Amino acid sequence: MISFQSKLPNVSQSIFSVMSQMATTENALNLAQGFPEFNPPSELIEAVHSAMLNNKNQYAPMPGYLSFREQIAKKEFDLHAIQLNPESDITVVPGATVGLFVAIQTFINKGDEVIIIEPAYDSYEPAITLAGGKTIRVAMDLNSLQIPWDELKAKVNHNTKMIIVNTPHNPLGTVFTQEDWQNLSNIVQQSNAIVISDEVYEHMVFDGKQHISVLNIEGLKDRAIKVSSFGKTYHCTGWKMGYLSANAEITAELRKVYQFLAFACNSTAQMGIETFMKIENNWEFELAKFYEQKRNLFRTHLQGSKWNILPCSGSYFQVLNYDGHTTLNDMDYAVQLTKFSKIASIPISAFCENREKTNLLRFCFAKNDDTIIQAANILCKL
Ligand code: PMP
Ligand code: GLN
Repeated sequence: MISFQSKLPNVSQSIFSVMSQMATTENALNLAQGFPEFNPPSELIEAVHSAMLNNKNQYAPMPGYLSFREQIAKKEFDLHAIQLNPESDITVVPGATVGLFVAIQTFINKGDEVIIIEPAYDSYEPAITLAGGKTIRVAMDLNSLQIPWDELKAKVNHNTKMIIVNTPHNPLGTVFTQEDWQNLSNIVQQSNAIVISDEVYEHMVFDGKQHISVLNIEGLKDRAIKVSSFGKTYHCTGWKMGYLSANAEITAELRKVYQFLAFACNSTAQMGIETFMKIENNWEFELAKFYEQKRNLFRTHLQGSKWNILPCSGSYFQVLNYDGHTTLNDMDYAVQLTKFSKIASIPISAFCENREKTNLLRFCFAKNDDTIIQAANILCKL
């Protein structure tokens, strides 16, 4: 037997794998792991197929095809008025998870502190640990769903090298306001911290609200990395496609690391997405309406039930509070619902370090309408 020292001794299988597997074995509706129940648009599939037939099957350039990056830059400008130089500011990567990992590996050295806001997406902390960094958690208030900015400010010191934020938020569905960004900007001015902004749900913002990117904020954009994912936007989470946007200086540093992590990412998906972006101008706008309707459908069918429906301004997740249903903690209740009520969800404590009793479960509504109604009907019976 060989012996080795685990680099992640406290980590086990991710909650998304655990709950998806349980949903399959228990034959339960899977509203747990976040992925759409529908296919990408057929024009996109055809465009990828056509790239395969047209010999685009070898390595793409390290930062992505330039024509693809030009198209991304155009979209960023058209949708968010963000100005990016496609040559120097955009790097195409195999999904946001890799993008986050690259950003953390690039800028975090042994002993550096990284502030994350809890509930936090599960990949942040292990990536920080692997880089030798120390994760500093700031907990959102699960009633007001606000970030305690004063508390965050108190945790910034000369060791703070990075702050990771996420808007629209997974799992809580909150979106940053101009005031949130201003608070963050004020806090980081005296520090040397880079801001990573995980914006993978940027095109799913509801009720007339607008997504505001870190790259829209004057005091932040020159120290920020925006993380994007095509998986969420084009219903193709399985393709693992995303990109990083940052100024030229930060990007040059990111690319030094990225070239040795993956070197380049899927050539035919790049070509296909580029073609689709050129033919479909209204996709992102329609996507927000599409998911807003799904959110409304789910919420409407839950009216009158015992669940307390939390606000959801963005993402494709709805969080429900089960106060009064049971004394079980959220993990045990999620397991019970999967096994006996045949509906799988994600316990919010999985995004937290020490919160056994959140009484909150996350449900993904990126599903066909009949699945959403079926899920709501099950939940109404509880
Ligand atoms: N960040 C957040 C907040 C996510 O929810 C996800 C997963 N969907 C990711 C990053 C990872 O995205 P990708 O599948 O592109 O790696
Ligand atoms: N981001 C997806 C979610 O929050 C899951 C991705 C994964 O399985 N790692 O459900």
